[in-house]
Amino acid sequence: MTAAERSCEVLIVGGGPVGSALANALSRIPVRTVLVEEHDPATFAQPGFDGRATALANGSKRILEQLGLWSTVAGEAERIDSIHIGEQGRFGAARILAREERVEALGYTIENRALGAALWKPLEEAPGFACLAPAKLVSFAGGDDVVSAEVDVGGKAVAVRARLLIAADGARSSVRQSLRIPVRENDYGQRAIIVNVTTEAALAGRAFERFTPQGPLAVLPLSRARASVVWTLGHAEADRVMALADGAFRDELQEAFGYRLGRIERVGRRGLQTLSRVRSGALSDRRTLLVGNAAVSLHPVAGQGFNLALRDVATIAEIIADDMASHGEHADAGSAEVLARYGEWRRDDQRKVAWFTHGLIRGFGARAPGLGALRGLGLVAFDLVPGAKALLARHTMGMAGRLPRLARGLPLS
Ligand SMILES: Cc1cc2nc3c(=O)[nH]c(=O)nc-3n(C[C@H](O)[C@H](O)[C@H](O)COP(=O)(O)OP(=O)(O)OC[C@H]3O[C@@H](n4cnc5c(N)ncnc54)[C@H](O)[C@@H]3O)c2cc1C
Repeated sequence: MTAAERSCEVLIVGGGPVGSALANALSRIPVRTVLVEEHDPATFAQPGFDGRATALANGSKRILEQLGLWSTVAGEAERIDSIHIGEQGRFGAARILAREERVEALGYTIENRALGAALWKPLEEAPGFACLAPAKLVSFAGGDDVVSAEVDVGGKAVAVRARLLIAADGARSSVRQSLRIPVRENDYGQRAIIVNVTTEAALAGRAFERFTPQGPLAVLPLSRARASVVWTLGHAEADRVMALADGAFRDELQEAFGYRLGRIERVGRRGLQTLSRVRSGALSDRRTLLVGNAAVSLHPVAGQGFNLALRDVATIAEIIADDMASHGEHADAGSAEVLARYGEWRRDDQRKVAWFTHGLIRGFGARAPGLGALRGLGLVAFDLVPGAKALLARHTMGMAGRLPRLARGLPLS
């Protein structure tokens, strides 16, 4: 084999949060893996590792613990002890409390940059792992026994042969497009302004989700006494608010969120993201699987995208580990059986979380007269119905449905 040829069990396309988490999981089995990433991982300049923060569910914490990654994440993570859900200008609020749910925390927030560092560092010495970056997948074809791919590494063509190709190449997945897998897309007509701020009163473990007529406004506790804000607005309004000077921006954010945390003091650099839901019509094709945003990309309202994707990762790793345990040297990570097991296992969880997230936007987004008061009542009722709250809490904590071993705190094999 020449330098321009590589052979492995699994080829991962995309080294964002999901592709890099998957590479870590596969290195625990271990499985020979090649990861192709367009950006240089050392700079963490990939779209997924920007100044935003991610809320990690308890199920995700367990997965990261089992992969030996939590100890690095923990130092930068901030606990969420309560989530306060309310509607701007209406009575009625719901609270989900860690102590009522009998858990140590409802989840944890971490800056994407810190998460990226924690996911990439161990890969430098991971057994059986090789990275091609900056490099781009140019073409691929799934055959009877292998998938053959061509990768452009700094202008040089490298041929990679693998048993299985896993697309972790994001919501606009070129792998999915090449396979002509149809997608269902919901354009919410919304953009999210993402910014970190400091506030007069400490968040002290409190997270807030405020539904406004324009869209939800989330405020999450972040390390170093900061808050991570995701403020959803209609396109034109988001563009207008983005263009405001810092002082005027702070005033408008204060008005939208209120004074629950006292005055908003400092505001950081703002980022803007257009929001839509993209669901792939299929999760696999010949010797190819889709994970993370390539499979389902969600509105960030409930902070579920990466948490859902980590369960994809834990499931694939478990299926491949089990296949190796039962078939030994005849194991085939890209067999029709492996692909079918993944699809059967993941469809239900993905459908439920996508439905729940979409429902939050549609339910609270409707503007018909009188609906606001009804929704206020709904929130109060919801707060009084322990069954409904517990179910929501279990879903958002990543503890509902059929969970892979890693998410139950068990080793991969
Ligand atoms: C505002 C906002 C807030 C969010 N908050 C949360 C939260 O609190 N909790 C949560 O769980 N989720 C959250 N999410 C969702 C989360 O960010 C996504 O689920 C996650 O980023 C998906 O990662 P990914 O690796 O699948 O895709 P991406 O991050 O898009 O990564 C894809 C990678 O593939 C690479 N790539 C693409 N094509 C190629 C190619 N041909 N060759 C080589 N490389 C390629 C790209 O360079 C990129 O690095 C949020 C999302 C948004 C927008």
